[in-house]
Amino acid sequence: MIVCKFGGTSMADAKCIRAAADIVRADKARRYVVVSAPGKRHGKDEKITDLLLRCQKQGVRKLDFSASFIALKDRFCRIVADLGLQLDLEGDFDALEQALRDGASPDYAASRGEYFNARIFAALLGFDFLDAKDLVAFDEKGALLMDETIARLAEAMKKHTRAVIPGFYGSRPDGSVCTFSRGGSDVTGSLAAAAGKAELYENWTDVSGILMADPRVVRDARTIPAVTYQELRELSYMGATVLHEDAVFPVSSRGIPIRICNTKRPSDPGTLIASEAPCKMGTITGIAGKKGFSAIHVDKDRMNAEIGFGRRVLSVLEDLNMSFEHLPSGIDTLSVFLETSEVKGKENEILSGIQAAVKPDRVHIVNGYALIAVVGRGMRHAPGTAARLFSGLAKAGINVDMIDQGSSQINIIVGVEEKDYERALEAIYREFIPVEL
Ligand code: ASP
Repeated sequence: MIVCKFGGTSMADAKCIRAAADIVRADKARRYVVVSAPGKRHGKDEKITDLLLRCQKQGVRKLDFSASFIALKDRFCRIVADLGLQLDLEGDFDALEQALRDGASPDYAASRGEYFNARIFAALLGFDFLDAKDLVAFDEKGALLMDETIARLAEAMKKHTRAVIPGFYGSRPDGSVCTFSRGGSDVTGSLAAAAGKAELYENWTDVSGILMADPRVVRDARTIPAVTYQELRELSYMGATVLHEDAVFPVSSRGIPIRICNTKRPSDPGTLIASEAPCKMGTITGIAGKKGFSAIHVDKDRMNAEIGFGRRVLSVLEDLNMSFEHLPSGIDTLSVFLETSEVKGKENEILSGIQAAVKPDRVHIVNGYALIAVVGRGMRHAPGTAARLFSGLAKAGINVDMIDQGSSQINIIVGVEEKDYERALEAIYREFIPVEL
């Protein structure tokens, strides 16, 4: 059995929805489908979820939201008509309009995009519609109750052999609708795959998988054929946006692989995400990076002989409720790399706090770093990988300010000046993947 999730761009209009239905029908194993709300049809378009949230905001302020509401209703009615369905959603639209007038919550409003779309897609496929409100359980504070949810989904899936489930929302114990954070339909899909013990979780989107590097920087970046969950986490943390962060655990903990597929090119192999995947020694899987980092550099003669030095520096940051990224150190120097947004406005407190805590010879903050993560299970125990990486940077004339290798040996992080970020990313990529002629 395969669980498929279709994202907003795969559901944007009747044409896309029909293509998605063809994909589902092409394999009998695709028995459970999770859908997002219709997304943008073109660059300047608005996502249904955003349209709903606009209506909600206007409704709460007792403003006239009829223009936004008509736009919303028209989009769904057009989809239903273009698909040639006999589906009467009039009563549901009236209920939504009334709820918005009565000051419906943002979660309730936002959830209706998935609700209507799942009703439509279920009707098109001839599958049962299962309301996520009864299946996805949150606590009073809005935290997902994973075991409860998986149990409920498993129960429902036993009774319904083919079903469409709206993504993104569920309900709290009092019955009120609660949503995940944006992009949360990925999580619903993952939970359904876990509950149904799926062989595969297919995540259908508008790209043919995960690219090895940001295509805005490396224009011809190749698709990653296979990536492990652990590598994906490293890449996502450093900015590669693929799946909702919480969508990995329900399937990774059960060894269910995820495939990222392209609705517009269904026969492309996409990217397979699994616990393990074969690879060649000395290769890399992907590169990701971000600008906007700062470093607190602390120098003190004979620092390494002073027990508790590092702890005292870090406790200053802890007291200021700051989280750090990397901690490279030398004999008499210690640097803490963190996001500049963490540091902003707290500079004086940081400097005076460290001054008082460890009496350094010098402490100063430097902004303007970019961090780049080079990730690959093929780097583990492969002599020469780091040499290639750094020779790529050296050939491009880029100075490396910081190096950090995780103990898992699947990532090397380099810190460079922000101005060198794009060139550094490209240089590393080219060192491993030559230009295709
Ligand atoms: N429709 C929601 C959003 O726009 C959830 C999703 O698409 O997964 O974020």
